[in-house]
Amino acid sequence: MQHYRVTRSLATLCAVLTAAWGLTSPPVSAVGPGNLRVSFVDVGQGDGAVAVTPAGQAIVIDAGPRDASDAMRAELRALGVKKLDWVVASHPHADHIGGLPELIASFPPRQVLDPTYVHGTALQKRFLKQVGSSGARLVRARAGSSIQLDPSVKLQVLAPPARLFQGGDSDANNNSIVCRLSFGATYFLFTGDLEADGRAALLKNSPADQLRADVLKVAHHGSHNGADPAFLAAVRPRIAVISCGKGNDYGHPHREALDQLARSGSRILRTDQLGTIRCVSDGKTVRVVSKLPVLPPKQLLVPARVGGGFIGNPRSHVVHAADCKQAPRLGNRAEFKDLRKALSAGYRSHAACLGR
Ligand SMILES: [Zn+2]
Ligand SMILES: [Zn+2]
Repeated sequence: MQHYRVTRSLATLCAVLTAAWGLTSPPVSAVGPGNLRVSFVDVGQGDGAVAVTPAGQAIVIDAGPRDASDAMRAELRALGVKKLDWVVASHPHADHIGGLPELIASFPPRQVLDPTYVHGTALQKRFLKQVGSSGARLVRARAGSSIQLDPSVKLQVLAPPARLFQGGDSDANNNSIVCRLSFGATYFLFTGDLEADGRAALLKNSPADQLRADVLKVAHHGSHNGADPAFLAAVRPRIAVISCGKGNDYGHPHREALDQLARSGSRILRTDQLGTIRCVSDGKTVRVVSKLPVLPPKQLLVPARVGGGFIGNPRSHVVHAADCKQAPRLGNRAEFKDLRKALSAGYRSHAACLGR
């Protein structure tokens, strides 16, 4: 298990890395009351998250594509959820709401928060029909509203704006619901598939600090249009979660987004590499629970690189990402496909490219 204190200095962050992550991860259901639990479910290529508040209110934010409803249901069961209080449908694309009709059929929610952007697809009609027959109340999401989920947990709606976007690159994406879940001093920001236009408007319309979050669900699966320096400077995330499928057709996450996130100092956690990522907040600290193999905690924070492998310098015993400028040239190098192999061979990771 990994502890991230809310204190925002990176030095402090490093100083409080305490236990080995994945070594003693308790089942999530064993995490006691008084905590907010947030799971970023491995739904393949798409977004799907579940949050359970200390008072037991359960909320689903997207449910991945259609074939992900089993994964969503399994996570709800693991969290001990029997009924849903809220469903947030960030926007009507299939990788976000595809799994919702079936999920709603088995876990009828009390309320559904929707951007009410008319996409006109068969899927959106099926989704709205299922909401109707479930008896749930359909609530229009607009920036400025806020839902008190339980006495200590609030969901602020930050987007879409009162007047929906029209005529941009992807109106469906840019009208995504952006919402921030807060518990004590800890914040989780969900951004759907918000693209550059949507983020620019959100930045302009948001008071200072309204976007700040400890955990950011990176927009648009880490696409090149999913992150930018101005937005990351406002959010200042400690943890950046990218929800995407292994070997997906879009090449998500894109290098541009990974580089921006790395430069922002946040730790990148990816569902395609880690499976479902579970966070537990006690209101002061966010712990991340994952099923990574046992490694020293500092190495566990290393964002793994896909493709390219790792290059070790046999003299200094420092291992670099394949694209690091300081990686040794051909002739004096040891190549590793798997970072763990390099570490177990006695190499230490190069902080500049692989993190501390
Ligand atoms: Zn998407
Ligand atoms: Zn989308």
